[in-house]
Amino acid sequence: MKVLAIGCHPDDIEIGCAGTLAKYVKLGHVIIQPDELGPMRIGEAKKAGSMAGIKVRTLDIGDLVVYDGKREHRDAVVELICEEQPDVIITHYPNDYMPDHTAVSKLVFDASFAASVAHYPATKGHPCEVTPIYYMDTLAGVNFMPTEYVDITDFIDLKIQMLECHESQLKWMRDHDHIDFAEFVKTCARYRGLQCGVGYAEGFTKCYAWPKVVPGTRLP
Ligand SMILES: [Zn+2]
Repeated sequence: MKVLAIGCHPDDIEIGCAGTLAKYVKLGHVIIQPDELGPMRIGEAKKAGSMAGIKVRTLDIGDLVVYDGKREHRDAVVELICEEQPDVIITHYPNDYMPDHTAVSKLVFDASFAASVAHYPATKGHPCEVTPIYYMDTLAGVNFMPTEYVDITDFIDLKIQMLECHESQLKWMRDHDHIDFAEFVKTCARYRGLQCGVGYAEGFTKCYAWPKVVPGTRLP
């Protein structure tokens, strides 16, 4: 199976679903992770991705200018989806804590549909099936009730090591907000684990929109 995980910022994938992606890789699946990020953070994201065998791609769209219905942003994601032909897409929850996350969620939803329309120009003649989407947890799990859990107990140390690759963010949050972000993320995974009876877990909800719904689950 080919998995496309689309996060807004370079560290969003580590926060929300790195354990799940590492588990997919361990099971022999292929992971693609595009980001929109500044030059310094590209290196951090690639370093984190390489730790779990994840290919990282960049769309290079600036903070707080993501989407708003902009066709060039949608087409960039349509092209990405058509190039990669994923079996499953993971992205932000539509009601996350900040506008770039909610914009990326909508962007991915819209692009995944457009990518299936054969005559839409950005598909370049290679449309894909309408791909099932899973939404990852919100920051701190606020206002998010998972409907599916992935047991990441064997991957929690790797998830935190991947997160720690984002040195610029962790330092900034420690200095600016007095938050130990590695501990923050580990606590959330422990709480999701508590909810489903394992050590550590990541929570997801399925995007319930026809025709993206498929029987069973495509999560590992
Ligand atoms: Zn973010």
